[in-house]
Amino acid sequence: LELDRPGLAALAERLGQPAYRARQIWRSIYARGEIDPAAMTDLPARFRGELAALAAPAPGPLQLQTSADASTTKALLPLADGETVETVLIRHQPHGGSGAAPRRTICLSTQAGCAMGCVFCATGQQGFRRQLRVGETMRQALLARAWARGEGSEITNVVFMGMGEPLANYPVTSAAIDRLTDPDGFALSPRRITVSTVGLVPQIRRLAGEHPQVNLAISLHAPDDALRERLVPVPSASVGELVEAARGHADATGRRVTFEYVLLAGQNDAPAQARRLAERLRGLRCQVNLIPLNPSPGVFGERPSRRAALGFQRVLADNGIRATIRVEKGLDIAAACGQLRGDRIRAAGNAAPP
Ligand code: SAH
Ligand code: SF4
Repeated sequence: LELDRPGLAALAERLGQPAYRARQIWRSIYARGEIDPAAMTDLPARFRGELAALAAPAPGPLQLQTSADASTTKALLPLADGETVETVLIRHQPHGGSGAAPRRTICLSTQAGCAMGCVFCATGQQGFRRQLRVGETMRQALLARAWARGEGSEITNVVFMGMGEPLANYPVTSAAIDRLTDPDGFALSPRRITVSTVGLVPQIRRLAGEHPQVNLAISLHAPDDALRERLVPVPSASVGELVEAARGHADATGRRVTFEYVLLAGQNDAPAQARRLAERLRGLRCQVNLIPLNPSPGVFGERPSRRAALGFQRVLADNGIRATIRVEKGLDIAAACGQLRGDRIRAAGNAAPP
């Protein structure tokens, strides 16, 4: 999984095989979802054995949870060095009678932990552990697709909204996008992929240049710098710089940028803050996705009332800014990023002597 196409071709050649074996392996993994070389039956038996001897075992999830309404399945995956990472499959039902195909979205992690320290985020509170490798991110996608296929559906969307900051691991995020859009595999349109970032401006520009059709979501959370710095303590960019980066992205790609705004009761959910936000976003091709906080132990913040969330949305709409309130799934299984891993760390901590 760590090898790209040229890497697989080099491996095949090293083992005395013709270059077309690389494509066979690639299709086994990314089209059929078979990562065990021993089961790649279109390869010669001896070559299969040689590959199997080289491949590291890929252990299954440590924990697997599905929400009571069956909309969300979440896994905690072990990595080779003992780190753990989360991945989520979200099943959206089409609106009644619309005849649309059901959506299946995978939420991918790109880092174990995160260095940005957002005060309301379970991953942020666990600190940064390490970058994931591309194979570790693709394994999540393959696993979640296998669940979907087991239910007779295919993956329709991918969001980079799991653990970590995808643009702080740009090479892996970019390589994963390449693989997810490769026609010999997931074959997803880049328009079905969304990268969510806390706002790393140089990498936002790079993404626009290299993957112009991929959707961008910027996690803003506040209309002004003082509040944003309290919620997102590691400085990335000012609100003004983020709005300008979004403008640059919209101009370069022709696509509407999404701003994510986690609503925390009494912190950033007042009507005056909505008005201020609308002022800052005026004239920008964008939409705001309001996310009522998914609270969990050890992280800051309380969930806003439904009334406050609707009021915030209305002020934005009255000021000409499109806003949606995220339809939440998986609240009962701690599906916000880092929460399952956090549970496990706490459980381990409780079991050990103080
Ligand atoms: N690091 C990137 C992507 C991962 S987080 C980013 O910050 O955008 C994906 C989204 O989940 C972000 O918008 C983040 O603010 C949000 N989020 C994190 N913790 C949350 C929580 N407890 N409740 C609701 N949303 C949360
Ligand atoms: Fe990192 Fe995103 Fe969590 Fe902030 S919200 S700590 S950037 S994963």
